[in-house]
Amino acid sequence: MSRAAPAWDVVVVGGGPAGLSAALWLARYRRRALVLDAGRPRNRATWAVHGFPGLPDLRPDELRARLREQAMAAGAEFRAGTVRAVDGSQDAFTVSTHGGATHRARRVLLAFGLRDVLPDVPGLEEAFGQSAFHCPDCDGPSVVGAPVAVYGRGPEAAALALYLLTWASRVELLSDGAPSALGPDQLERLRQNDVAVRTEKVRRIVAPGGRLERIELEAAPDVAAEALFFHLGARPACDIAEALGCERDGGQPVVDHAQETSVRGVFAAGDLVGPPYLAVSAAASGVRAALAIHRSLVPASRRI
Ligand SMILES: Cc1cc2nc3c(=O)[nH]c(=O)nc-3n(C[C@H](O)[C@H](O)[C@H](O)COP(=O)(O)OP(=O)(O)OC[C@H]3O[C@@H](n4cnc5c(N)ncnc54)[C@H](O)[C@@H]3O)c2cc1C
Repeated sequence: MSRAAPAWDVVVVGGGPAGLSAALWLARYRRRALVLDAGRPRNRATWAVHGFPGLPDLRPDELRARLREQAMAAGAEFRAGTVRAVDGSQDAFTVSTHGGATHRARRVLLAFGLRDVLPDVPGLEEAFGQSAFHCPDCDGPSVVGAPVAVYGRGPEAAALALYLLTWASRVELLSDGAPSALGPDQLERLRQNDVAVRTEKVRRIVAPGGRLERIELEAAPDVAAEALFFHLGARPACDIAEALGCERDGGQPVVDHAQETSVRGVFAAGDLVGPPYLAVSAAASGVRAALAIHRSLVPASRRI
């Protein structure tokens, strides 16, 4: 390789389960992999990562620390830093950070995850990740036999309410002062399943220390629930995929079976590329990206 060749085979943008799992496997293929991480993972507000096979209920920071140590022991490099921009093209990318560093790489893996949109309700932030959740698959199993509330208006909120009956003893749907946006059939389906729809405005969520005590409504009795679920959407944690010109669907980059985006040499993995939004799925897609990136770097002289 010439002296002007990039220092890194791959720069990984984001050090969550996706980016760190990719880095581990890239290092196993003896690829020079640098992970740059801003340190604000999607699940930082919660106390445990449920359902990660073999690692029951680890704290999110503990899971990341273990993944990081394993990747670094294999030979990957990890640095704190927030990527500002990715320029260039396959074999000659330049990755710039807000701190002023630049790194040259042959491939780039985008693994910077999503940010959740939270309901604009007083008290919600304190409860988020402790007793207010966006993901029924992650936290539904923690509310077996408990009363829960769902925040939202449309069919998606109604579907979430019905889905939670897998675990909850009772579900109430809170439309927060707006008329319910459900049709008669949907309302009837909720009624058949004893899901009450409360249309009063939500005054505040009372959750001392993050533990939901009650949800106060205006001019109506409180809602007694042990957990609140919502899904108002999520967006990429930064706009790098958009700036690179990656084809996107609903804001998220579209990838092929090898996790490559529409921009050659730019791969993407983890929550950023779509469901299921689980740590183990993010890790798996990171590994899939690593294998594909390695193969894309094998020279023609070593192929038959
Ligand atoms: C409240 C809550 C509870 C959850 N509970 C569970 C659970 O119990 N079980 C489960 O399996 N999943 C759970 N999840 C989902 C899980 O957190 C995600 O699926 C997983 O974190 C996705 O991993 P990722 O690597 O794609 O992204 P993330 O873990 O979000 O990591 C992305 C990383 O990229 C960094 N980054 C962002 N922008 C940049 C940039 N420009 N430059 C450098 N770095 C950048 C971020 O700071 C972050 O560190 C939960 C999520 C939430 C919000």
